[in-house]
Amino acid sequence: MTRMQTRRLIVRLAQLLAAAVVTQFAQAAPVTAARIIAADKEPQNWLAHGRTYGEQRYSPLAQINEANVGQLGLAWSYATGTTRGLQATPIVVDGRLYATGVWSVVYALDARTGKQLWRYDPDVPRAWGRYACCDAVNRGVALWGDALFVGTLDGRLVSLDAKTGQKRWEVNTIDRTKPYTITGAPRVVKGKVLIGNGGGEYGVRGYFSAYDARTGKLAWRFYTVPGNPKDGFETPELEKAAKTWNGEWWLGGGGGTVWDSMAYDPELDTLYVGTGNGSPWARAIRSPGGGDNLFLSSILALDPDNGELKWHYQVTPADNWDYTATQHIVLADLHFDGKPRKVLMQAPKNGFFYVLDRVSGELLAADKYIPATWASHVDLQTGRPVETADGDWSHETRLIIPAPFGGHNWHPMAYNPNTGLVYIPAMQPMGIYTPSREYLTTGKFTRREMFWNPGVDWNEYTKSIYGLLQQFQGSLPPDRGYLKAWDPVARRTRWEIEHPAFWNGGLLTTAGNLLFQGTGDGRFVAYAADTGRTLWSVPTMVGIVAPPVTYAIDGEQYVAVLAGYGGAGAVTGGDPRTMASGKYLNDGHILAFKLGGNAAMPRIAERNQDIPEPPAIEAAAAQVENGKYAYTANCMVCHGALAVSGGVTPDLRRLSSERHSIFKQIVYDGVIHTAGMPRMADLVSEQDVHDIQAYLVQRAREDRAAGQKVAPARKP
Ligand code: CA
Repeated sequence: MTRMQTRRLIVRLAQLLAAAVVTQFAQAAPVTAARIIAADKEPQNWLAHGRTYGEQRYSPLAQINEANVGQLGLAWSYATGTTRGLQATPIVVDGRLYATGVWSVVYALDARTGKQLWRYDPDVPRAWGRYACCDAVNRGVALWGDALFVGTLDGRLVSLDAKTGQKRWEVNTIDRTKPYTITGAPRVVKGKVLIGNGGGEYGVRGYFSAYDARTGKLAWRFYTVPGNPKDGFETPELEKAAKTWNGEWWLGGGGGTVWDSMAYDPELDTLYVGTGNGSPWARAIRSPGGGDNLFLSSILALDPDNGELKWHYQVTPADNWDYTATQHIVLADLHFDGKPRKVLMQAPKNGFFYVLDRVSGELLAADKYIPATWASHVDLQTGRPVETADGDWSHETRLIIPAPFGGHNWHPMAYNPNTGLVYIPAMQPMGIYTPSREYLTTGKFTRREMFWNPGVDWNEYTKSIYGLLQQFQGSLPPDRGYLKAWDPVARRTRWEIEHPAFWNGGLLTTAGNLLFQGTGDGRFVAYAADTGRTLWSVPTMVGIVAPPVTYAIDGEQYVAVLAGYGGAGAVTGGDPRTMASGKYLNDGHILAFKLGGNAAMPRIAERNQDIPEPPAIEAAAAQVENGKYAYTANCMVCHGALAVSGGVTPDLRRLSSERHSIFKQIVYDGVIHTAGMPRMADLVSEQDVHDIQAYLVQRAREDRAAGQKVAPARKP
């Protein structure tokens, strides 16, 4: 045989093998509404994002339980070949596992072996990463019939053949001249694919859309904030909402983006959606003259057939702090005050745990799950928070708990009906809020187009960080991260565990009295769901933010989770000394465990912690000072405060001499945009680029001199 013939034969054999693998799964029945509604009848599968439409992330599987969880071992691992955040909830059906990763890539694996069946790359332009506040992440696919749906970072919704990964249709869901992104998982309700988007910090107007699952045709769209009244209002609700806004809010988009949570109650035929923060954060700039700014930071109850609003509850009226209500929504039936109630539960960023009657929208409870300082309490009569003087940063810089990271971010909670507890990946970050000096002195605010624009003062912010560093002798008070077990009926924390890192993984709870969580410091842990006792733990060396799932094949139960640190708390803030990604390379993996599993855990290499000698850059002190401010305003959101990276994006103190030699071409001209570093010439001047580089050189010198390989980072 010639070499060519041999190659052809090998290709043909590979094709036959692939076909055999496909045949093995050919019996897979289509996923229908009836199947998702009756998900408890097939606990071996994980059919929808939160397993059920109520999104409790509770599994009835109990083969792995508190008595035997100590025998859990790795069944298989799959290397994604990525080094940024992995946040997806895998969907598992009839032996196949579907997950998404960095840049919205979709993976289909044999759930028993981890063998790749296919991989789909939507080819997201890497420069689009500039519009993503919080890493190039994706939280998963939805499955309906025999089709998968994925939202891409650059705003497309794509339908794939679940068997082959072949594209069926693709629609653009956004105005492509605006910095929208999609990171959330679609949901499918009654044949319609629901998808929102992000971009609140970049000056966009929030909405979410419903597309026909078969054709990709737009069925309806719900805008969460009114547009320019001159253009007319899309719905009567928006006409009413416009009365809660002032000034020319539409110039900054308004925000209210729907970037994560949705849940559905098939009995009530009601869809629940959480909306995002105001754009910009500063309400004085966004809506001068006040107003609640509906429907920012709200929970919306809608008719899934047409998107008509049934009721709404605004968790943070007149949001001023980036307090989104896009956090996980859990539906449950509880005995509340002695009465059976159909409730909706949420721990939004603002630090209060809410219980609402999901039939009427009536507020039943709102209690602090972390010591939030912006409000004293929520008045249950009016349903409104009572703000404190400490939370008002309209005239001076304030330190406020929680920071924009929130008391809880997107990382899913879990509710266990046996323990009656809601488990929260909770945080206690302190935020520095600095009012815009320009706005205070001139009444104007200069918006940067297509970029991070929260309406704070970056110079003041930078000064505050350096002031705090001095006050605390070079080490800032740490942000804190917890696993909290919240009793929604008793309205209090039952137990809590503090983690080393503040930014940790989402949750899974099971009928085996288990609670699973991955941590930012690189462990995967099983706790007793009732007491919080640690029962089992394995070092992963890679930080985990994704929520685990569980499934079974031929009666054998598995627990799977994506390991890959990322998201806002990893790229912008946090202390790298507490994060696995600060010490090890952030090599992405999908890990699956089973009882008696004996596969070897992936080997993760240690990161080189050296800071190389930087080149000499001629710069006056004033230029370095300018570089410091320009860095904070333009670079920090991805590369970390004080130029200290959490390991997910490059640490700019450690730039090679080769990178330094083309620094201007990188930042100003975008010569490495395909690697994810976009062109910034519209935001910074050539002088700024020079000064930023001089600041980075100074930071490298400082930390080399201090022998401090990793300095504590700080967040907005
Ligand atoms: Ca936000």
